[in-house]
Amino acid sequence: MTTTRTKPLHGKVLLHGTLSCRSGLRIGGSDGELAIGGLDATVIRDPLTRQPYIPGSSLKGKLRSLLERFFDKEFNHNGGTPNNPIWRHECADPACPVCRLFGASSPSRERGDNLPARVLVSDCFLTEESEKELAGIEGGMPYTEWKTENGLDRITCAANPRQIERVPAGAVFAFSLVYAVGDLTTVKEDLLHLLTLLRLLEDDALGGGGSRGNGRVGVTLTAAEVRTRGFYLGTEPAKALSLAAEGSLAGGENARTLSEEAARYLATAVATKTTESAQ
Ligand SMILES: [Zn+2]
Repeated sequence: MTTTRTKPLHGKVLLHGTLSCRSGLRIGGSDGELAIGGLDATVIRDPLTRQPYIPGSSLKGKLRSLLERFFDKEFNHNGGTPNNPIWRHECADPACPVCRLFGASSPSRERGDNLPARVLVSDCFLTEESEKELAGIEGGMPYTEWKTENGLDRITCAANPRQIERVPAGAVFAFSLVYAVGDLTTVKEDLLHLLTLLRLLEDDALGGGGSRGNGRVGVTLTAAEVRTRGFYLGTEPAKALSLAAEGSLAGGENARTLSEEAARYLATAVATKTTESAQ
């Protein structure tokens, strides 16, 4: 493998939006405090505010696994333990669309061979409006609902009900993804993949129990901007990217337009900077 000893940073592309729960969402927390007669499975909460949230790692993992399957990548890496394997794809090839976006450790263990993730996914918290709405829910726990699910014994037909805590349908979380611009030649493709993933997520599920109807989300992009090196140095403003009609997500054609606009802007900005420093 060719080794790259430099990893330039030309700027960042920021994508902001919301994830609206179309069905109850279950992202598990610790069940350590579980009392007898309590809930079987609780949702993850911010320790200070006690509000449920979507950890950035959960969203990133979901997007990565969707892209692995989208490109039919081999699950060749065990991220768990031998007894409890968690298989995923990891190859550290800069031409691999999955590892390039989401990162891979160095297969040769040599310095510089790893691919640092280009995407940073933040924890997603409830929007202010949603927080107010959910605060009024009647139930045992703040901001969430309980759902009873049944396991059915196929021979005796005996039901084995259990209670699951979920964030109710209608809750809205804010998300933000930050893409680090390294190689200018892959910006367009990387952004296109990222936006396609957000669209794909709408027809998939987040969190646990997806096949039982949990975790359906609507994704809306509310803002997208490019921040070049000049932005951080204070010599030029951020460049807002044009979004399609409000309330719709950036799949398909919109993803194409947006990623092209970002790539074009960055190419010009970096070329200008190179000319300036050559003079
Ligand atoms: Zn790969």
